[in-house]
Amino acid sequence: MAAKSKGAPNLYGSFIHSAPGAFLASKLGLPQPAELRRYKAGEPALPGPVLLGGKGRLAEPVRALLSDYTVADSLDSGTKYGALVFDATGIDSIDKLAQLFEFFQPAMRNLAPSGRVVVLGTTPELVGSVDEQIAQRALEGFTRSVAKELLRGATGQLVYVHPEAGTAATGLESTLRFLLSAKSAFVDGQVIRVGKNESVAPASWDKPLDGKVAVVTGAARGIGATIAEVFARDGATVIVADIPAAGEALSATANKIGATALALDVTAPDAAERLADFAVERFGGIDIVVHNAGITRDKLLANMDEGRWNSVINVNLAAPHRITSGLVAKGVLKEGGRVIDVSSIAGIAGNRGQTNYGASKAGVIGMVDAESPVLAEKGITINAVAPGFIETAMTAAIPLGTREAGRLMSSLLQGGQTVDVAETIAYFASPASNAVSGNVVRVCGQSLIGA
Ligand code: NAD
Repeated sequence: MAAKSKGAPNLYGSFIHSAPGAFLASKLGLPQPAELRRYKAGEPALPGPVLLGGKGRLAEPVRALLSDYTVADSLDSGTKYGALVFDATGIDSIDKLAQLFEFFQPAMRNLAPSGRVVVLGTTPELVGSVDEQIAQRALEGFTRSVAKELLRGATGQLVYVHPEAGTAATGLESTLRFLLSAKSAFVDGQVIRVGKNESVAPASWDKPLDGKVAVVTGAARGIGATIAEVFARDGATVIVADIPAAGEALSATANKIGATALALDVTAPDAAERLADFAVERFGGIDIVVHNAGITRDKLLANMDEGRWNSVINVNLAAPHRITSGLVAKGVLKEGGRVIDVSSIAGIAGNRGQTNYGASKAGVIGMVDAESPVLAEKGITINAVAPGFIETAMTAAIPLGTREAGRLMSSLLQGGQTVDVAETIAYFASPASNAVSGNVVRVCGQSLIGA
């Protein structure tokens, strides 16, 4: 089980779930956040069967990939579905967009709480004709809008699959399984691109990281500690790293999950070397590196000193770049390796008082864009998560009003948990995600910020 995050009390959430709060909410039409269904070992992936529609190239492969799900082909008005999955790859003209309406409109009221909508398309930039490119691009606006209409913790995503993906579309499986599960609870309104590589399913989808060595920086507390826990749950051997001053908390994280602790300031000039030597000596190398360590030093630019600027750029951007380059150059990050960066919605939308942080987290997205094709030559993927409002010590320090607004400003009307970010990172880390590179997935409950 992942750690409970130690965020500040969610005043609005507690109030709205109390008897007087619920009464007032229904009278005044106030938004009511749903309790999100989250992963528990042994529970079914979805709260109901999958309704599968569409007649493109992916419907049949998807049916085969979901052999352990209950899949229906036609809508039964008395059934609540765990997911509505539509293969829109056959939509190659504007006229055919009507297929979206025909499938989804009658089924919208039949989605269970915490249900999933997944639309599958073909990467628009890579299709053959102008008409098809227009129609495929339209899927994005459709899916993001559907996601905004869904209620009771349900979410909606679009997956673009490379047009040259094999006929079995095995590269899609890890993405599909992540989206069609409680692990993607706080991922909403996202577009994920899947490449053409074939994938091999892990021996167990409950232990996909078996035999892998993973490093998580900034793992003494918060999101990093939960990433380490989820990795250990998924079977990885975990190295948790943090600054020497966080030694006590780091040991606690390590002891809890049987990880190995490494006191490491990621900004140290020899950080990559120390990490490489440590990992090679103990475990023979590294398969997964998560650059989670991050800091904020907020000030309006007019009042900012050089120290605040430099420290944020160094920890959040320069260090991950230097460490990835070092590990790859030394061959310590192995063939088939995974690099996962932590950006932020502040790096997409910008944020007042965060010119340093916004620059660093947008730079992280640039790192994913630039390094993805280069690392692909070595069979290494690189992706990032961009968390929105996550309940941690970092967000507990935000003033009350802004904090409540941050929670409510998403389609799911609440903040996320550290485990939501960790599950998304674990999806990228999976060996079965070898066709997934160059993505930035927001874990923000479809926050309006930067949408
Ligand atoms: P946190 O402050 O709780 O934890 C960050 C950890 O990084 C700490 O343990 C800290 O000691 C460590 N760290 C800082 N500088 C380091 C260095 N030089 N070397 C090694 N470790 C270092 O923060 P969090 O909320 O868990 O955030 C984790 C990541 O998620 C950060 O990159 C942050 O920018 C990002 N993020 C968080 C949120 C949120 O809502 N909490 C939103 C968007 C992005």
